[in-house]
Amino acid sequence: MKTLRYYLLRVISLLLMAFVFQSCLDSTGTDSQLPEPEYSHNLNPGRSANDFLSDSSFTNLVVEIDYMPGYAPNERALDSLKAFFQQRLHKSSVTIKEPTEIASGEQDEYSANDVRNLEQDNRSTFAKGDTLAAYCIIVDGKYEQRNVLGIAYYNTSNAFFGPAYDEASNGVGAPSRYQIEATSFRHEFGHLFGLVAVPNSGTEMQEPHKDPDHGNHCDNDSCLMYYATETTDLIGNTIGSDDIPSLDANCKADLQANDGR
Ligand SMILES: [Zn+2]
Ligand SMILES: [Zn+2]
Repeated sequence: MKTLRYYLLRVISLLLMAFVFQSCLDSTGTDSQLPEPEYSHNLNPGRSANDFLSDSSFTNLVVEIDYMPGYAPNERALDSLKAFFQQRLHKSSVTIKEPTEIASGEQDEYSANDVRNLEQDNRSTFAKGDTLAAYCIIVDGKYEQRNVLGIAYYNTSNAFFGPAYDEASNGVGAPSRYQIEATSFRHEFGHLFGLVAVPNSGTEMQEPHKDPDHGNHCDNDSCLMYYATETTDLIGNTIGSDDIPSLDANCKADLQANDGR
């Protein structure tokens, strides 16, 4: 029997997807050919999936977050992201560093290459020893596709677009800031973990579930990794719910098959 909670979750996921997940994986960077032993942080999303999921190369994870003025991340959303890491990754410790404010880029719009350049200027945490490092930047402009909340743009890097959060949380019955940010953070890291069927990630589909029409996304409309376009009819139904979409069984199975939890 489908419960009220099921329907609420489904409504929230559909609402969020409207703003979010079309083309939120940008693989147009050049896969650099840097030799070992330097760990390369400039590869395409998905290339470090096993390093995130397993403990064979890295037993710890540290996450650096830089944000532009006005867009400090929601603290509950960061707690939710940390819990997601603890649920899905084989890491003995996960640390999300205190977010750091950086100067505004003073752009209305940021491309994937813009955020790559911002990372170059601002990132200070890199993989070292048995600790893998991830990087998140929250900018004060929108993405080129203006309804996108976040993109995964390098193998350990995600960018998020603050004004798109503002828009998604605006209005009666809209999801809360916590719901939007937590879902967005988790979704983009899902891509870094190789979901769904991201090339060269090692995260293979155990059962076919890739949405044929929407890139590297799941075909289950209640899954964290789902993409959908429809939304506005559903506004008004989410009041009172505090949940965020979780990974479905297919997505979890894919992560587990690549040494995740
Ligand atoms: Zn996506
Ligand atoms: Zn899924």
